[in-house]
Amino acid sequence: MQSIQAFYSKLTDPKKIAITTHQKPDGDAMGSSLGLYHFLIQLGHSVTVISPTNWASFLKWMPGCDKVVDFELSKEVATKVIQEAEVLFCLDFNVLHRTKNMEPVLANLTCTRILIDHHQQPQKNYFDYGISNTAKSSTSEMVYDFIMESGFAGKINEQVAQCLYTGVMTDTGSFRFASATANVHRMVAHLNETGFNHTLVHENIYDSFLENRLRFIGHALLNKLEVFYEYNTAFMAISKNELLRFHVKTGDTEGLVNYLLSIQGIKMGALVIDRDEERKWSFRSKGGFDVNTFARQHFEGGGHFNAAGGRSSDSLDNTIRKFIEVIKQYEEQLK
Ligand code: 5GP
Ligand code: MN
Repeated sequence: MQSIQAFYSKLTDPKKIAITTHQKPDGDAMGSSLGLYHFLIQLGHSVTVISPTNWASFLKWMPGCDKVVDFELSKEVATKVIQEAEVLFCLDFNVLHRTKNMEPVLANLTCTRILIDHHQQPQKNYFDYGISNTAKSSTSEMVYDFIMESGFAGKINEQVAQCLYTGVMTDTGSFRFASATANVHRMVAHLNETGFNHTLVHENIYDSFLENRLRFIGHALLNKLEVFYEYNTAFMAISKNELLRFHVKTGDTEGLVNYLLSIQGIKMGALVIDRDEERKWSFRSKGGFDVNTFARQHFEGGGHFNAAGGRSSDSLDNTIRKFIEVIKQYEEQLK
């Protein structure tokens, strides 16, 4: 993988470009993809954003979101766009299987492939150009740096700003994590100068759920929370039945895992959700416990030091049993 700087000179020559990201895109995945989209179309490129799956309804207000192609819904159209693209940007994911059923399509491409990502241990051999930096708050911050460094600061308009702000805001927990560096705050100051309304972004993302989502969270916190004080670990498992009973949609479970860490002294929060195709794990930690390595070693996952995810094709009961067995090995580290 060559450095992304080597690609800057090719930016001004109009091309067919596809942008993709990880399955069930979150605020940063969608924000970085659409931010890049709104930048590239100003340079005359023909650009399509493709998502491997559907996304949360709290992202649907984003400018350009209505044009994003859902691979699962429109497989033929999406495959054609990807196969005809001269350049493919892969944003906010480190390994191809994070694109779920799109992986075989991506695996057999001959176009120029570019990575912009902040997750650990990316699959670098797949990419021609790219930048991987785990110190970055978000892929949206990296897209901002990409635009600035490539000499097109003037193209950061209101749409670009709305999208990139969404990504950096959601991936920094509204600017509270250590990753919200001086560079992030300088970027936000610059984005604000484009005149977009950041209060509206917060409202659209955090205050636009339906009643059922709040009742579901109430149920989960009251009835499903388990705390293993001997391992400073809080845990929660959500069954299929509960997803149905509370009409839980994509995005409704986002943020649930963070409640687990809000308990004093808790060092790891673990949430498992019994999705149709797999049991999906979310891990969060405070301080020195590395959930990236934990997820990678035991639950086919990865991510960041303090926030990672994983999966299991086993039953819900079995994957819970495995978790309870596995944390015993970490008693010392979690103390
Ligand atoms: P979340 O718990 O919000 O789904 O994910 C937390 C972090 O871990 C995100 O940065 C996400 O990209 C990453 N992540 C989630 N699931 C997986 C997975 O199955 N594999 C890998 N490598 N990373 C994941
Ligand atoms: Mn991200």
